[in-house]
Amino acid sequence: MSKSSRNQEGANPPHQSGSFFRKTKNFPEPSIVPRSSHNISRELIDPDALNVLYHLKRRGYKAYLVGGCVRDILLHLKPKDFDVCTDASPSRVRKIFRNCRLIGRRFRLAHIIFKGNKIIEVSTFRREPDFSIETEDRRDLTIHSNKYYGTPADDAWRRDFTINALFYNISDFSIIDYVRGMDDLRSRLIRVIGDPEKRFYEDPVRMMRGIEFSARLGFDLEAETLEGIKRCRGEIRHGSPARMKEEIMAILQGGHACGCFSLFFDTGLFPFLFPDFQPWDESQTKYILAILGQLDSLAATGEKPSEHLCLAAFMWPFIANRLEKEEIRHVNGLDFFLRDHVNPFCSHFYLSVHNRHLIKELYRAVWRMRRGTGNKGEVRLIRKDFFPEAMTLFRLLGKCGQVDQGLVDGWEERIKVKPKHRRRPWWRHRAKNKVTAS
Ligand code: ATP
Ligand code: MG
Repeated sequence: MSKSSRNQEGANPPHQSGSFFRKTKNFPEPSIVPRSSHNISRELIDPDALNVLYHLKRRGYKAYLVGGCVRDILLHLKPKDFDVCTDASPSRVRKIFRNCRLIGRRFRLAHIIFKGNKIIEVSTFRREPDFSIETEDRRDLTIHSNKYYGTPADDAWRRDFTINALFYNISDFSIIDYVRGMDDLRSRLIRVIGDPEKRFYEDPVRMMRGIEFSARLGFDLEAETLEGIKRCRGEIRHGSPARMKEEIMAILQGGHACGCFSLFFDTGLFPFLFPDFQPWDESQTKYILAILGQLDSLAATGEKPSEHLCLAAFMWPFIANRLEKEEIRHVNGLDFFLRDHVNPFCSHFYLSVHNRHLIKELYRAVWRMRRGTGNKGEVRLIRKDFFPEAMTLFRLLGKCGQVDQGLVDGWEERIKVKPKHRRRPWWRHRAKNKVTAS
């Protein structure tokens, strides 16, 4: 095959013959939005992502920008990351790019690594697992048969929401829309691709993603999608804990946590998502939303709150409620209390031991700060590495009425006072003046 014939759009590269790409369903024809009818210009695309697209195109492969980056550029937002999909197999991608690393066991993805550890993810078109196969559990099928590659149409139809399944084609700069995502983008709707119940059953984390996109973009959840979430909310128990934790962290740190959690409450997802926080009442709902609102304000200043600070703030209303009942007077009692109440939550989400420890340190500091200034061990507390974060948490709780504002002001005054210079102990003087025999 000559080089020019391989470069033609639609020409089948040799690796597509045989069983690697399976013939799949007949999908409706996509609508093509030409360059003149959309706002995606190459200036808005990351230069490295553009490089990857051109490189694949030059080798005769299809190369599309896909997912959140296309959606965000169309909405005049700054994309978080750039994802590319192609009909080149992962091993081909590995051969084309020297700076490439293959990851994943079930479905191999190529990470192209650039300066500053920037990663452009390249995936090969994938298709939906075959549900016609008889199995006991459909979820099993998602896990074991996710190994088949597909066509661009397959890849679009297996994605979660219509607005996330738009392809930007580097060959003619058009947008390929298989799932009517452009219409939903215009109507500002989050719509699941396919039957919502089936799709949420396959992967319950999609419910959280839908809610996150709705809060982040200010879009409405389409009626059937919303109904689907309400009907399948119990399924969230079967979601992968690691991915759920990832989503929760993205929500808490992303600056739209208040909106997301309001939707978690409205759709009834919250009690299934956080079973350890039962029972909870209306006043706690109000406090949680107020605290999350403060976290959002913190994120809006450009300061990304750390994982343990976000989780400590989020859990505080539950912890405070139980703390009041127990009337703990000594720090040893507090340690036992934290072990009993913080650990179950942390193990539910597979939090690292380090993060668990830091959350407890923050709570210990807040517990001590609630007693006011002028107590024993105050200087030692102020000198701790985690104190600035404890102070941020204390301020945040003050703004939500969870701790007395007078106490917060007292601590603000206290940290302005420079700690007294500590005299060097006598043994240090001696060590310094020691004369060594030569
Ligand atoms: P963000 O701006 O948060 O990165 P995103 O849409 O790019 O949003 P990613 O997690 O980066 O989200 O995923 C990239 C793409 O992969 C999505 O746009 C979507 O098309 C697809 N995807 C991600 N998770 C799922 C899922 N659970 N089911 C189906 N498709 C998914
Ligand atoms: Mg993304």
